[in-house]
Amino acid sequence: MAPEDVDAAVAQAEKAFHAWRKTTYEVRAALLHKVAGLMRKKKGSLAKLITLEMGKLIAQAEAEIVLSADIIDYYADNGARFLADKPLNPQYGKAFIRYSPVGVLLGVEPWNFPFYQVARFAAPNIMVGNTVLVKHASIVPQCAVALEDLFKEAGAPAGVYTNLLISGKRATALVADERIKGVALTGSEEAGASIAAQAGKYLKKSVLELGGNDAFIVLEDADIDKAVEWAVVGRINNNGECCVAVKRIIAVESIADEFLEKFKNKLANLKVGDPMAPETDLGPLSSEEAVVQLADQVKRSVDAGAKVLLGGKRLDRPGAFMAPTILTDLKPGMAAYHEELFGPVASFYRVKDEQAAIKLANDSNFGLGGSVFTRDIERGKRIADQIDTGMVFINHPTWTQADLPFGGTKRSGYGRELSELGIEEFVNKKLIRISELTDPF
Ligand code: NAP
Repeated sequence: MAPEDVDAAVAQAEKAFHAWRKTTYEVRAALLHKVAGLMRKKKGSLAKLITLEMGKLIAQAEAEIVLSADIIDYYADNGARFLADKPLNPQYGKAFIRYSPVGVLLGVEPWNFPFYQVARFAAPNIMVGNTVLVKHASIVPQCAVALEDLFKEAGAPAGVYTNLLISGKRATALVADERIKGVALTGSEEAGASIAAQAGKYLKKSVLELGGNDAFIVLEDADIDKAVEWAVVGRINNNGECCVAVKRIIAVESIADEFLEKFKNKLANLKVGDPMAPETDLGPLSSEEAVVQLADQVKRSVDAGAKVLLGGKRLDRPGAFMAPTILTDLKPGMAAYHEELFGPVASFYRVKDEQAAIKLANDSNFGLGGSVFTRDIERGKRIADQIDTGMVFINHPTWTQADLPFGGTKRSGYGRELSELGIEEFVNKKLIRISELTDPF
């Protein structure tokens, strides 16, 4: 988009905000329900766009469309309740909190869930009365345009939802624009730091959803077969390109061999191939750069002493295919110990006991999700409490749904999306206080 087109889009979004903020929750909910309905109706064609542009398995792309529609409906159904006045009980007088929108927002979104990530940002904010500009990832331009078209077709006033076809660099520069009141980014640490620095410079609120290196702790009292099944799903879902995923498996010594043997067998038998074919278990990575980077991370780890139990290289076939891989003997200082591996590469660690597992889980700059597998739920809760991340799942890989908050700590970012917490990020929580004649001041 030419600079003047971007400027016109921002102007339109600001103009739309002044009218949109005055609409009722019913009007906003009706628009969102229409968008969700259209998404479901067009599930097949939208899913094909996702698979075409970033390589997700077609069944998972269809599931993403349904999940995105569910998120949009969720905010349409619950937004008015979440945003209702909250009465306070002050020492003197009467007071309440009134939620009001803040204005035009910029969302910078990643390619790995082209519809779901945008739904998480756009639906709550449109329900609040904000208007949104979306700079989507450059490798999913058709998904980006299709999203804007859904809003247009649903009858959204011009400027309520606008797609910007611009680079990341230009998105960062745009944060300085006075008409933009806040920015949310989902993506890498580098992109997050760039947006957050600019937001800080211009004193704007930002929400960052960045990378992760989730631990998947398997204790001696776990249901091993179930843990293995979930470990496979959690590692290869979305071809391994998830911010929350089974990235570091940490198994206690007594069950480590059994777990590893079963996990290896399952990974080795995955059917790798065309993501459009229904029988495929694992598709290609999103781009040539992605597979080159992942293979390099594995190579650097192996050069530093890590062992390859399975796979270890890109597959010798056309396309950005990485072999399902298991790395063991990992130590601090190695690439795979510290960096996020975005693809079907699992790191396996064996530890003495529960305490060692927790220590290792927390030895990461990331703090997004994590899992604990144990039959003793109270033990699971005690361990969850000690894991330094934004989300911990007991007997399940880190997962997502509309009514559960999503977000991280440490270098995985700040703020939350989804659930009631997600609608509260870009609102003015205004105090209104009424004095009584008898008040002392
Ligand atoms: P990315 O390269 O950071 O891209 C994400 C978005 O940021 C894209 O729209 C990209 O635009 C833009 N961008 C890139 N550099 C930028 C810059 N310097 N300033 C402003 N914007 C910039 O990340 P990705 O490779 O698409 O996504 C993978 C990462 O996202 C992983 O680390 C993953 O863990 C994380 N992620 C986190 C969550 C979460 O909820 N925490 C969810 C999904 C993914 P271009 O495409 O034009 O470069």
